[in-house]
Amino acid sequence: MHKNLTRKIIEEHLVAGSLTPGEEIQIKIDQTLTQDATGTMAYLQWEALDLPRVKTELSVSYVDHNTLQMGFKNPDDHRYLRTVAARYGIVFSPPGTGICHQLHLENFAVPGKTLIGSDSHTPTAGGVGSLAMGAGGLSVALAMAGEPYSLYMPRVVKVYLEGKLTGHAGAKDIILHILQRLSVKGGTGRVLEYTGPGVADLSVPERATITNMGAELGATTSIFPADETARRFLRSMQREGDFSELGPDPEASYDQELFVDLSSIEPMAARPHMPDLGTTVRELEGRKVDQVAIGSCTNSSYADLKITAKILAGRKVSEDTELLISPGSKQVLKMLAAEGLLEPLLDSGARILECACGPCIGMGGSPVSGGVSARTFNRNFEGRSGTQDAGVYLVSPVTAAHTALEGAFTSPEKWGEPQPRPSLPDNVPSIRDQFIFPEDADSREIYRGPNIVPLPQFEPLPQNLDLPVLIKCGDNISTDHILPGGAQVTALRSNIPAISEYIFSRLDEDFVPRAMQAGQGLILGGENYGQGSSREHAALAPRYLGVRVVLVKSFARIHRANLINFGILPLILTNPQDYDRLEQDQAIRVNTTDLVPGGECFLEAGAGDKIKAVNDLTPAELEIIKYGGLLNLVRERKKG
Ligand code: SF4
Repeated sequence: MHKNLTRKIIEEHLVAGSLTPGEEIQIKIDQTLTQDATGTMAYLQWEALDLPRVKTELSVSYVDHNTLQMGFKNPDDHRYLRTVAARYGIVFSPPGTGICHQLHLENFAVPGKTLIGSDSHTPTAGGVGSLAMGAGGLSVALAMAGEPYSLYMPRVVKVYLEGKLTGHAGAKDIILHILQRLSVKGGTGRVLEYTGPGVADLSVPERATITNMGAELGATTSIFPADETARRFLRSMQREGDFSELGPDPEASYDQELFVDLSSIEPMAARPHMPDLGTTVRELEGRKVDQVAIGSCTNSSYADLKITAKILAGRKVSEDTELLISPGSKQVLKMLAAEGLLEPLLDSGARILECACGPCIGMGGSPVSGGVSARTFNRNFEGRSGTQDAGVYLVSPVTAAHTALEGAFTSPEKWGEPQPRPSLPDNVPSIRDQFIFPEDADSREIYRGPNIVPLPQFEPLPQNLDLPVLIKCGDNISTDHILPGGAQVTALRSNIPAISEYIFSRLDEDFVPRAMQAGQGLILGGENYGQGSSREHAALAPRYLGVRVVLVKSFARIHRANLINFGILPLILTNPQDYDRLEQDQAIRVNTTDLVPGGECFLEAGAGDKIKAVNDLTPAELEIIKYGGLLNLVRERKKG
């Protein structure tokens, strides 16, 4: 069999299972990453495993999300992360060094290695040929303990790129185009493997923009081959030793194909409030824009900011518009400074923010009330910017820069000659000395501030559950809907009782008192429930509030895994129309005694009214749920 690249890497790391699409497999994980918003919980879980040292080849703890220090919580958490890293053999990236995915790509990602990260945009590292996936913090903790990572063998989609980008189009426009074609569910259960002659037209940071937003397609991951371009990138990063050539066999077989003609791509924008609501920038001509933000793990590379600087040089941002720029890493910032590119950015009127996620999660930089913000980010969910009624458009850095100058979307025909897409210089300044590498043996004390609260304990699954429907929500409920981001909430990420008070607060402010009064309950959802970020608090905090079952039309992959990890039973309505028959507060009996993996499950919704659902669980997943969560199961096994 002629193998595609994804299959080759999985085969090399396979611990259990067969490579049939849809089958559960387990693979060895070489590298892990965490960011602070999910990392404190991941490390609390790691500590609960009581092991002396991480067993991965490399684990990195980044601080990039909650960098604001407006009280004791975030600095205390940063200190906890730093001391845990030193104690257990983890590389620590202090706040201000950069955004986890940009930093990982520049400093640590290796072709052919497996990486899981407690952040849904971990697939960014696929730009250099890593098999990189977003996962819950608990899965990351277990991978650090040397446990294999379980996933469903994905279908591999051959994304065949032909031709070359022209005019003002860039990598962001390619992925916005693909999102428009495939939708936010189009990648579910799939890896998008990029191939074809068009691949050579894209640099590694451009490839990383595309693999980064594969997360918005719901894909398991996305990957590019490790070719000459990847070798040049690693050489520029002074890491040529990490290179090995990797690609699909000639005539490799795939489960599905998608053709993209790069020469037909034009500047695109995703309209509020979904990344797949694509349109051409041309069609938005004349729409006033209050704010432009350039940065995030999608578009904060040296090339992204260099082209921005070239467009802004000698010009001023519109008086009615603010421009925020967050470089992806100190390396990017140093290169801009060294090449005299910071000056045109500053002179244009832009605000230069810290090298961190910042406005992407409403950590500063929220737009004005009812405002329109054009952002080079990857998500535009309602309220994510920190301003509930703002409308966010997702665009490329080129579109963002022109929009900032005009204060409105304008047609690309009016932008003049396109700037050449920048390439990396041969040698870029290293920032490796900014990381704190662990010593060989360290018994240093771990500091815990008052915001670090021990994990709650959960009981096993009882035999029968009588559950009220605590909330009935619609399609495409994101983890932001379940648990909002923003400074106030995410500062509580290592304090489950406190963060639980925000569950569904954006949809229904009575949810928490209702759940607490009921003691336990069920969430009813529509299609693609739990899309968006990998934050496991969106499963852990509902579990703390007594949620035992989530019943939906379909799930987003990472959130479903998180529900299972915390002992919540995910059920899928066999007949989606039954959704309309159920209402909030209705009592539902779930018989859990007869649950078999992948089997049907009958729910009683009142006298004789039976609703059919399937549990879609593997034997291993069902066992986790019966134990009340993965941590309970692993602890039990360790005892045995
Ligand atoms: Fe940070 Fe935004 Fe990227 Fe998440 S999506 S890692 S918040 S920049």
